[in-house]
Amino acid sequence: MPLDNLHEHFAGQPKYRLLQAKEAVYGALAESWAEATTLPQSLRESLDRECPLSLSADFFVSRDQRAVKALITLSDSQKIESVLLKSADGRHSLCLSSQVGCAMGCQFCATAGLGFSRNLEAEEIIRQVLLMARYLSGHDGPEVRISNIIFMGMGEPFLNYDNVMAAIKILNDPQGFNLGARHFSISTSGIISGIQKLAREKLQINLAISLNAPNDQLRSRLMPVNNKYPIDKLIMAVKDYVKRTNRLVMFEYLMIKKVNDDLSSARQLVRLLKGNLHLVNLIAYNPSGKFLAAEPKQIAAFKKILTDGGLKVTQRVSLGRDIMAACGQLAARGASSQSNSACAAS
Ligand code: SF4
Repeated sequence: MPLDNLHEHFAGQPKYRLLQAKEAVYGALAESWAEATTLPQSLRESLDRECPLSLSADFFVSRDQRAVKALITLSDSQKIESVLLKSADGRHSLCLSSQVGCAMGCQFCATAGLGFSRNLEAEEIIRQVLLMARYLSGHDGPEVRISNIIFMGMGEPFLNYDNVMAAIKILNDPQGFNLGARHFSISTSGIISGIQKLAREKLQINLAISLNAPNDQLRSRLMPVNNKYPIDKLIMAVKDYVKRTNRLVMFEYLMIKKVNDDLSSARQLVRLLKGNLHLVNLIAYNPSGKFLAAEPKQIAAFKKILTDGGLKVTQRVSLGRDIMAACGQLAARGASSQSNSACAAS
């Protein structure tokens, strides 16, 4: 029985039993139903049989302890990855996978090399969160919780829209994981239909666009999705999203050496994004065989052009390089020792 259908197991039970079960799973972060001692033993035993809480995973911790990657084995033996990033300001952001593999074919991404296998179910998304929440409270203390959830791991979340939204609704539910809607972000490679759907959702979830290039020529080379949804259509969809939601949209820009880090690209980016409710996030690239990371000096010069041009800019350092924290790197290594690229979501 899937975890997101827990209520089915409690049909015919007093209402408070379901609440007790949710408190055990999402509040106390129980690893097995045996820990849910408010429930009768017979119920715990049947839940353990039909809806086990455990998940098979290997953990990899970076040397500086600020990145933890879980390589998760699903019930059909497929592998996905989740990455927990600990910021200097005390935030704990969790990067989730939405699919097994990915069909989008971004040139800089290890997951792309795996190809697409299947969508994750809503409960498989929720289980990633519970796994990492347990890890965090077990290692850093029971009061330490996940502060942000970002769909930026393996897969294109808007191609698994319904399951991603179903998982978010349960994780947002005060009787569930109880994480505020503004603490969720969905990062898309540019699926316009998904942007349009999200604009109509009642929940105030953050939208991020994995842009990585300021013009169609370069973007189509790096991200084949651009052939279907070119930059002008993407920007129009984002403008419409901003008009409907009045929410800031983040444009992620992975800094790749001598590919998209030249200063004329920075100037093009200013022309493309200026004057709108946008934020540019410059992300240090996890270097790999095909591409290299931009030099810090080059990133600084690039950033200056953006800020001088009036754009709001943040910069994300690379965490967990030593544990291959970019999405898909570990799973790809298992699938093929040749695969060593890195993901936009690194
Ligand atoms: S960067 Fe994201 S969308 Fe592109 S191939 Fe990788 S997982 Fe898929």
